[in-house]
Amino acid sequence: MITMKKKRVLVTGGSGFLGSHICERLLAMGHEVLCVDNFYTGRKESILHLMDNPYFEVLRHDVTFPLYAEVDEIYNLACPASPIHYQFDPVQTTKTSVHGAINMLGLAKRIKAKIFQASTSEVYGDPAVHPQTEDYWGNVNPIGIRACYDEGKRCAETLFFDYNRQHGLRIKVGRIFNTYGPRMAMDDGRVVSNFVVQALRGENITVYGKGEQTRSFCYVDDLVDGIIGLMEKTPDDFTGPVNLGNPGEFTILELAREVIDLTGSKSQIVFKPLPSDDPMQRKPDITLARKAMGWEPKIPLRQGLVKTVEYFRRCLETA
Ligand code: NAD
Ligand code: UDP
Ligand code: UDP
Repeated sequence: MITMKKKRVLVTGGSGFLGSHICERLLAMGHEVLCVDNFYTGRKESILHLMDNPYFEVLRHDVTFPLYAEVDEIYNLACPASPIHYQFDPVQTTKTSVHGAINMLGLAKRIKAKIFQASTSEVYGDPAVHPQTEDYWGNVNPIGIRACYDEGKRCAETLFFDYNRQHGLRIKVGRIFNTYGPRMAMDDGRVVSNFVVQALRGENITVYGKGEQTRSFCYVDDLVDGIIGLMEKTPDDFTGPVNLGNPGEFTILELAREVIDLTGSKSQIVFKPLPSDDPMQRKPDITLARKAMGWEPKIPLRQGLVKTVEYFRRCLETA
């Protein structure tokens, strides 16, 4: 019989939307999980169901400060991801990405742990290359309102690759494209949760700009497969960066109509100003992920939206 070694895994941002799913999956795989979070956008509700598991531990801690722990692997996800939250305290957002990366890399170096960085499609900015391949360097406004997030994540990538070259650290960098699904907070502010909650409440659906801008939406279970696959299935010399997302591309107006159709809502679409530097198009080229780990998303938008609508319906019933 093959017995898998139980690993001790640190997940920063572990009570957030993606982090809670990663913690859950790692525990299901038989690992020990240390969830580190300052609960800025993360919520206890997202990890309550894991609290009875003796192999799950939670530490309230801000990753901009040093952390001492002994683990085998680190998933670094700490960072607010929704524009309204990362723009609320932009200086703290940059610190979280940059100081957070330095501390987690310093920790990984000392204990010789393999470390994953949750990077983002935002490193491509408002992309001039479409779909985006990993060798595209991007088009980011370094002084705009999104820069605290975009440039913070770009600098974090720089740090990961320098720790890899300078200290031989085992790194994995995943560039995550828009992901949605159960456990997003109702007030998260990103487009899928906004539209679904608005539709279920019968409120106006707020489309920013003309709604012609595109995004490619990945269901959370597919994304978790991709992240875990990157850590577990690729050799040490495969560092990434690798795009993780669903190549199905939709305009924001199409998304709004799909949500209205699915929920049978009487909500009206209203148009609001487009925030500055909002990227016009975004779609991952996932050739590299397919080749490196045989990964591709399986859940199309409509199917994922059905599960997401069910989730938010339950939240609204119990709210
Ligand atoms: P989220 O806001 O739900 O989760 C982020 C978590 O990090 C929260 O639990 C928050 O409390 C925690 N956090 C923030 N600052 C911290 C700090 N200084 N110290 C400790 N914890 C801190 O967002 P998410 O969607 O789960 O995103 C998780 C990660 O994935 C982020 O790094 C984000 O940039 C990246 N990402 C997400 C998406 C997406 O579509 N969901 C896309 C690209 C990249
Ligand atoms: N660090 C940490 N935990 C550790 C080891 C290091 O938080 O177990 C932090 C440390 O405080 C430092 C950062 O990681 O600020 C970078 O560490 P590194 O050893 O790379 O650099 P140095 O300490 O030489 O600046
Ligand atoms: N958006 C929108 N209405 C909303 C929230 C967002 O039209 O209520 C738009 C937003 O302007 C952007 C797209 O939807 O063009 C995706 O926004 P989100 O904040 O989800 O992610 P990001 O812009 O970081 O990709």
